[in-house]
Amino acid sequence: MTDKILAGRVALVTGASSGIGDATARALAAAGAQVAIVARRKDRLDVLARELTQSGAQALAIPADLAREDENRRIVAETEAQFGRLDILVNNAGVMLLSPVEGADPADWRRMLELNVLGLMVSSQAALAGMRSRGGGHIVNIASTAGRIANANVSGYSASKFAVVAFSESLRREVYKDHIRVSVIEPGVVETELREHIPHAGTRQAIDAWAASMRQLQPEDIANAVLYCVSQPAHVNVNEILIRPTDQER
Ligand code: NDP
Repeated sequence: MTDKILAGRVALVTGASSGIGDATARALAAAGAQVAIVARRKDRLDVLARELTQSGAQALAIPADLAREDENRRIVAETEAQFGRLDILVNNAGVMLLSPVEGADPADWRRMLELNVLGLMVSSQAALAGMRSRGGGHIVNIASTAGRIANANVSGYSASKFAVVAFSESLRREVYKDHIRVSVIEPGVVETELREHIPHAGTRQAIDAWAASMRQLQPEDIANAVLYCVSQPAHVNVNEILIRPTDQER
């Protein structure tokens, strides 16, 4: 007997080498899931996998560049091969390369669209056949408040996150009859490495100052939201969670 609510379930968390993905992998493992963890930085994945294993969980590190379509299929296939199934897919990997539209590098837009949107779409697609054959599953997509409201200087990122919200709802309507649940989580400001890659200095300064003006969410706060979604009884489909710091207005 175990009181671990996700015992026997297999999860795959992308972007698990830092921030929200790292915290989510830890939360799902602590709840009893076997966890596959994915990102590009193998050294960080190996450290996390070791820690999870030492705490009694089963973990599998899969280094991958999810901006590549085929890699999104491979991570699902490797998880199913290693653990025999995939029950919970958390599409969390993402980048936020902010600039004003005028002067933005279209290569940054392309990176955001390829990783934040296309990668997530392909990994979701790859997970469906197995989930359907096993009678159900759960796909959790990490969007953003930027996927609900658009602000200046956030255009490419916001476009990518609006796309995640739209894709998730359309997907839900296709797969709910197969007992596959789809949840989209829309965090406000979370204290992670995400802002470190902003290419436009003025935008980076403005965002850093804005974040410093509030008590930011911590990665564990979002991990808790993911855990809430995936630990509900089978008849409960939490479709959307919008979660801001109490101090955040927009
Ligand atoms: P982090 O920068 O800490 O984490 C991003 C993760 O994505 C890292 O593990 C990174 O790993 C991974 N990643 C980036 N590029 C790739 C790639 N090409 N292939 C595989 N993995 C990749 O940021 P967060 O934890 O904050 O971000 C997680 C998600 O949460 C993102 O989708 C982000 O948009 C979203 N979000 C974050 C908010 C915030 O305020 N922090 C607010 C709203 C949403 P590696 O570099 O090793 O590949």
